[in-house]
Amino acid sequence: MNSQISISKRFYIHTLGCKVNQYETQAMREILLKAGFKECLAKDIADIYIINTCTVTQHADREARHMVGMFHRSNPNAKIVVAGCLVEKNADEISFLPGVAYTVKNSEKSRIDKILNGEEKKAGERQDELTITAFKGRTKAFIKIQDGCENRCSYCKVPLVRNVLRSKPLDKITEEVKALTANGFKEIILAGICLGAWGRDLVPSGMAASVGLKDLSLMDVLKAIEGIDGNFRVRLSSIEPKYVTDELIKFVAGSKRICRHLHIPLQSGDDEILKRMNRPYTTAEYRAIIEKARAAMGDVAISTDVMVGFPAETESNFTNTLEFVKGILPARTHIFTYSKREGTPAATMSGEVDEAVAKKRYCTLRAATLMSSYTYRTKFERRALDILVENKRDKHTGLLTGYSDNYIRILFDGPDELMGNIVPVRITDMTLAYTKGIKIS
Ligand code: SF4
Repeated sequence: MNSQISISKRFYIHTLGCKVNQYETQAMREILLKAGFKECLAKDIADIYIINTCTVTQHADREARHMVGMFHRSNPNAKIVVAGCLVEKNADEISFLPGVAYTVKNSEKSRIDKILNGEEKKAGERQDELTITAFKGRTKAFIKIQDGCENRCSYCKVPLVRNVLRSKPLDKITEEVKALTANGFKEIILAGICLGAWGRDLVPSGMAASVGLKDLSLMDVLKAIEGIDGNFRVRLSSIEPKYVTDELIKFVAGSKRICRHLHIPLQSGDDEILKRMNRPYTTAEYRAIIEKARAAMGDVAISTDVMVGFPAETESNFTNTLEFVKGILPARTHIFTYSKREGTPAATMSGEVDEAVAKKRYCTLRAATLMSSYTYRTKFERRALDILVENKRDKHTGLLTGYSDNYIRILFDGPDELMGNIVPVRITDMTLAYTKGIKIS
């Protein structure tokens, strides 16, 4: 152990939730290390346990509380810090849990070192921009370029806990991309709570022209990153349908830097449910976006999110979703069952769907989406794709593994030295469960 480091400064961070939260964990880690704290492993006894929480589902809330109990039992003398989305609305209740020393809201994460050192917030102290230079334990680095959601989907708690739109300035984004790529990261994922809303808060819409400025949009970020030198690629994380403009599709199609992969949440393939979810599009509009993306990039991977068991979802509503998803053939689909969140409009809607029914719908949709993923992958049989090799081998086969720019996970044989690099791999074999290939030179 480094004798310079006080025993009371060993910390361990556990992260729940989305890419934005994972980014914020990395940012807190870097702040703490800079301030002289020392990170330890899960198996070590820490003095400070930080749980960076998520509140998107009831399950996420339960998991955070479970972690508090677990860390307190493992070391009753440790200070437990609960940070993030769960704290936004539940700070009082959380602060009474045994062992909890501090609760830290999302806007306070940038002063985590000061909080742990017992420094009170000074009047006028500004909220620093979070920033990172590495991403512990990951092959790909996420950059959070935006916070806050301007939409109001009726089931979603996120706008209640991250309600202020805040875009990272363009120069800070490019600095962060340069720092991460200089540190060896070959793939940068642009993440945000509502990625497509980047820039909306930087120049208030409608005022821009009057002061001789143009409205800023995600396009400005993509263009700026396109101009940065280096051997790396960029992936957009989730982007809502309304922000997938013709201009964006054209830019991605012509870019050498941006992956041919768009993750566009669908949530339901039934117009009646979409309306009650307060999603601002119809299934026809969603389909039109996918068709435009495919017309511009034949090989584009479309991935999506779909929810089952939304209040009063009938068998017929579900069948519409199932058929719609089969029709658009996503390369990957993240399915989740509706989770009632207090404070959201959907929480007061009648017609709760029985858990067993929701589970059955989940399984039916899952089987269909596995087939759809397989159908997408078959287009690439015998073809060579550039794979970013993950830093860990596949735990079942021991083979190297990595993702192509169009998000196909491929297993192949090779030495550890390839890890972290982008290498060409020819697809040789595929099943519903896996895709295999061989490295070519
Ligand atoms: S777009 Fe809808 S689902 Fe996504 S964070 Fe905003 S409100 Fe929630």
